[in-house]
Amino acid sequence: MHGGGVHIEIINTGTELLLGNTQNTHGTWLGRELFRLGLRVARQITIPDGATIEETLSESVRRSDVVIITGGLGPTSDDITREATAAVLGCELIEDEAALRSLEAFFATRKKVMAPSNRKQAQSPVGADVLPNGNGTAPGIYVPPRLNPIRPCAIFLLPGPPRELYPMFFAEVEPRLRALAGVSSDRKMLEMKFTGIGESDFHQAIDDQLAGVNGLEYGYCARIGEVDLRLIGSEEAVLRSRGIAEAAFAANLVSDDGTSLEAVVLRQLRKQGMKLATAESCTGGLVASRLTDVPGCSDVFTHGFVTYANRSKVEILGVEENVLQQCGAVSEEVARQMAEGALRVSLADVAVAVTGIAGPSGGTPEKPVGTAWLAFARRNLPTITEKVFHLRDRNGFKKAVSQSVLDLVRRHTKLPL
Ligand code: ATP
Ligand code: MG
Repeated sequence: MHGGGVHIEIINTGTELLLGNTQNTHGTWLGRELFRLGLRVARQITIPDGATIEETLSESVRRSDVVIITGGLGPTSDDITREATAAVLGCELIEDEAALRSLEAFFATRKKVMAPSNRKQAQSPVGADVLPNGNGTAPGIYVPPRLNPIRPCAIFLLPGPPRELYPMFFAEVEPRLRALAGVSSDRKMLEMKFTGIGESDFHQAIDDQLAGVNGLEYGYCARIGEVDLRLIGSEEAVLRSRGIAEAAFAANLVSDDGTSLEAVVLRQLRKQGMKLATAESCTGGLVASRLTDVPGCSDVFTHGFVTYANRSKVEILGVEENVLQQCGAVSEEVARQMAEGALRVSLADVAVAVTGIAGPSGGTPEKPVGTAWLAFARRNLPTITEKVFHLRDRNGFKKAVSQSVLDLVRRHTKLPL
């Protein structure tokens, strides 16, 4: 098997996943972890507990190299993943002694009596590996490809509870997948983050060039105000594609290791020993919130002012009353005075400010809904201002404007290469 060509299917079992009360986070989580290994999930199937599992598994093994099943390893009567797997393989379940002993130990250390129904959790198909579970009762099971009479497809049975599944994935699944798929010896992966351009810009500018790179798999993921470009392939293919993307959008490149915009901003400022303050109106503190999502931000980010009403802009940041009257709250001059006021009050080295019209009401022909003015004030240097326009619902507007604000700081605090 070769990394790129491995057909992997995930089967998530659990009636609760289909009733809408539990979100199927295992599907997402596994997809991301497999992607990290350079592997792609071909299909993800969510099914209820019970009889469906056998039919689904027997279909999946016919077209897969690896099938990963989550859930249904419990002691209750609808937990039948083990039985269904044995049936598909046409083999018997036997009691694994080591698994039984660790089950007994699990109950003993918790001073609980083991119910007879738990005993079936020690069963596994003949010849399969039992995967120890340090965090719960159900051991996982690994069926190597050679045990599969249908085609050489490996099967992993993993427990449902996340705190049991995640550690088992890292300890037991990942090493086996690496061995099976020959992962990562030759395949590289890169996630480049861009801001200030849309997905369609990529299509127009570089899609043809990327499509021409031999042995490259690539994809875009667009979110509000940013696009991720994922590159997978040989080292040479990834490097070449990185060069193509960088040449076209150097100014928009935020990071090439998946680092978020806010983390990049903080990193740049930290390297220069600079402190940052924010003064926000229409974003209601979202910029400060995003900055404080990054661990260790306190050595850079010192003050976050949310000055929503005119009076607070005047009283806290020293914006001039007559400027507010003449220019309006959403204006270049007010943004500038907010940023310079924040710099003065906080004693930071740089301060960024934003004021805008989120809507749905309040727009005028000169200042339509979606308009925002940004300002970036720096000690002993002229303040930079910028107008942006993001026509979206209130939440989308806040997100997009916060992106523009952070990017303004990023662009003007970039370190020379
Ligand atoms: P047991 O817990 O008895 O060993 P099990 O392996 O079937 O059995 P479940 O009882 O189905 O596990 O699930 C245990 C917990 O894990 C529940 O809280 C369930 O909601 C959660 N869970 C199971 N599958 C998923 C999933 N795909 N995404 C998110 N949470 C899940
Ligand atoms: Mg279940």
